[in-house]
Amino acid sequence: MSSSSPPRPPSPPPAVTSGALEVQGLSVTYGGSVTALHDVSLRVPAGSIVTMLGANGAGKSTLLRAVSGTLPLHSGSVSGGRVDFDGVPLAGRSAADVVAAGVVQVPEGRRVFAGLSVADNLRAGRLGVPGRDREDARRATAEVYELFPVLAERRGQAAGLLSGGEQQMLAIGRALMARPRLLLLDEPSLGLAPLVVARIAEVVRHINALGTGVLLVEQNAALALELADHAYVLDVGRIRLEGPADELSRSDEVRRLYLGERPEGDDEPGLDDEETAPVPSLGRWSR
Ligand code: ATP
Repeated sequence: MSSSSPPRPPSPPPAVTSGALEVQGLSVTYGGSVTALHDVSLRVPAGSIVTMLGANGAGKSTLLRAVSGTLPLHSGSVSGGRVDFDGVPLAGRSAADVVAAGVVQVPEGRRVFAGLSVADNLRAGRLGVPGRDREDARRATAEVYELFPVLAERRGQAAGLLSGGEQQMLAIGRALMARPRLLLLDEPSLGLAPLVVARIAEVVRHINALGTGVLLVEQNAALALELADHAYVLDVGRIRLEGPADELSRSDEVRRLYLGERPEGDDEPGLDDEETAPVPSLGRWSR
């Protein structure tokens, strides 16, 4: 008599990636005198994409520096508030400790080590990552090369010889080598051609779909609002607006205040228009 094997239990759901970022009442100064952030609060739920929009000088990079522990490199310091990741305070920790906690920044301007090869740049992304064996490093490298085949093709080339888009991919790849639970992306689209920007957007979606949270700082509001679940608008160091990204992208206020659009039927502001005061404008609305 043949016995049929018992039905298999359903496979467990994929592990929910932990890693929520909570910023509460954060204030930051440079050189002890210039206050760049005033009482800023925001949340990046685990595994979500949150964007911080704002014009030049609004304080977006400052926010990322405060989270990544790199403020001291810019003569900046936290003068108030909290930054917690997974309930653990990050404020006052070194940049290396923040990486070890699972939060990795891709700085603005795709700073790669120009004289080092692509492969060595990726190796540098493993520095300071605790408790990871060689096999894990090999797998992380293979995953980056799968995500960016052009980097695999150029692995022996000096990073300085790559195009701007390839350098951005390398900067993101280097951050992924540390296997972040939260990726801090500073203006990844800056100065790149539309096709390259579209590729970077795809990559951000892919990384997020694998469970990594993303805090995306962008002046390209169209791109950022398309990618993000939730958005904040920073204006001269203060949070001015926040909401679900799709709501913000439809909001007349966002379009009028930050995207340089006027409501329908209001082609020319009249002399008696009370709202003729200059409004902050994001650098780029369209891709
Ligand atoms: P951008 O898009 O131009 O990079 P941002 O929104 O990222 O702008 P920040 O670079 O964070 O803005 O700058 C916020 C404010 O802090 C600005 O007034 C800027 O001049 C000032 N600031 C930034 N870095 C320093 C620094 N190292 N020393 C002194 N002031 C600084």
